[in-house]
Amino acid sequence: MLSKLREYEEKHRKCGPNIRAFNKDMKIIANSKRNDTYCSATTCKYIIWVPTNGLGNQIISMASSFLYALVTDRVMLVQFGNDIEGLFCKPFLNSTWLLPKKSFWDAKDFKTYQSTIEMEMNNTLNKDLPSAMYVDLRFSGKFEERFFHCDHSQFLLSKIPLLFFKSGQYFVPSFFMKPEKELNKMFPDITSIFHHLGRYLFHPSNEAWKQITSFYQQHLAKANERIGLQIRVFDPNSTTHQIVTDRILNCTLENKLLPKVLSTKNSTMSSSNKNKTVMKVVLVASLYPQYGENLKMVYMNKSTVTGEAIEVYQQSGEEKQKFNDNKHNMKAWVDMYLLSLSDVLVTTYQSTFGYVAKGLGNSRPWILNNPVHSKEICEREFTSEPCYHYAPSHHCNGNTINDFSSFQNIRHCKDFPYGVKIVNSSI
Ligand code: GDP
Repeated sequence: MLSKLREYEEKHRKCGPNIRAFNKDMKIIANSKRNDTYCSATTCKYIIWVPTNGLGNQIISMASSFLYALVTDRVMLVQFGNDIEGLFCKPFLNSTWLLPKKSFWDAKDFKTYQSTIEMEMNNTLNKDLPSAMYVDLRFSGKFEERFFHCDHSQFLLSKIPLLFFKSGQYFVPSFFMKPEKELNKMFPDITSIFHHLGRYLFHPSNEAWKQITSFYQQHLAKANERIGLQIRVFDPNSTTHQIVTDRILNCTLENKLLPKVLSTKNSTMSSSNKNKTVMKVVLVASLYPQYGENLKMVYMNKSTVTGEAIEVYQQSGEEKQKFNDNKHNMKAWVDMYLLSLSDVLVTTYQSTFGYVAKGLGNSRPWILNNPVHSKEICEREFTSEPCYHYAPSHHCNGNTINDFSSFQNIRHCKDFPYGVKIVNSSI
């Protein structure tokens, strides 16, 4: 992995924005697009990552695109909008990964991968391939198979100098849908791929770091144990705060992540209790400030059966997901990063926000299950890898995949049963 990264950084320095090779290649690609001619050879090959969905989706898809760039010898650039500018440091030394602002590229102007694959399958594909292509791997209502995991698709894509990638997903598990040697060599433990990619790519900017360290020092550093609770409510209209609060308390108390409070008559905190040295601090991350406030009320001035003192803090409470809002994303990034520093983590099913927190922290959180899919309120996750929500549903020969256990390193996710994730073959 390290030698692959050093090689990559070298390539990025030679092919990155504003370098001669990059400028020359972009001219070649632009000419071929303008004149509608097939692609001519470029010095380097590129991926331009294009954002979609919330920050968690963006981070996991950037990590996947970067791994794809590593294994296909491409250089990855990112097309950040103002809303995610200034959240991360630039990861590659002496180079930038930001696509120049004045760039004329818009993914939507380019031929799509989907249409090309369809033409290839119908034998109507012209052998002259374009110089750039828009690879849209997002979930779509129609859910067409993209065959992105298949050799024939990869062979076709390998000939195209510039690929725009839009996915919002952690599509790394699809790399394990065929015999895999290189990734096994790069990652001796394939169940922490996102952890290593994430820790390499996503370093908080100075501004984010200031907020993270200041919150940490003020509230979390003093604790003997830090408990992160990530509470994502996907449908606030049908799920009341009370229902969610009950589920969280049930999960954390039953599994002894948090202690019960003593009954009312014994519950006023004695002066000896106030000086307790064992202290647990809970960091609540949620759009809704009520969760932090409610939990604070549960423990405020109360004694607990274990004698531990519990303090509860919430860094943000934005009420709703906001788009194109830099400050909002900064709060989200700070929350994700703080959660990743927890000793014990509880995350919500299906949430990519939670995936980033557990992945960066390399932890196996307790997952608050979706009541639709599970009777158990929460259960322990088996790896820190994110779930690929919308995995391929066909083998490369077109047959439907009925059973993912036929792939050695892939299993269905606990928190989102349609999705798949990477596992050790022993699981
Ligand atoms: P997902 O929808 O849970 O998979 O996660 P995403 O991160 O992709 O999108 C949810 C977005 O809602 C986040 O990026 C934030 O903008 C916002 N959000 C959700 N939960 C929280 C939270 O606990 N804290 C903060 N600050 N923002 C949140």
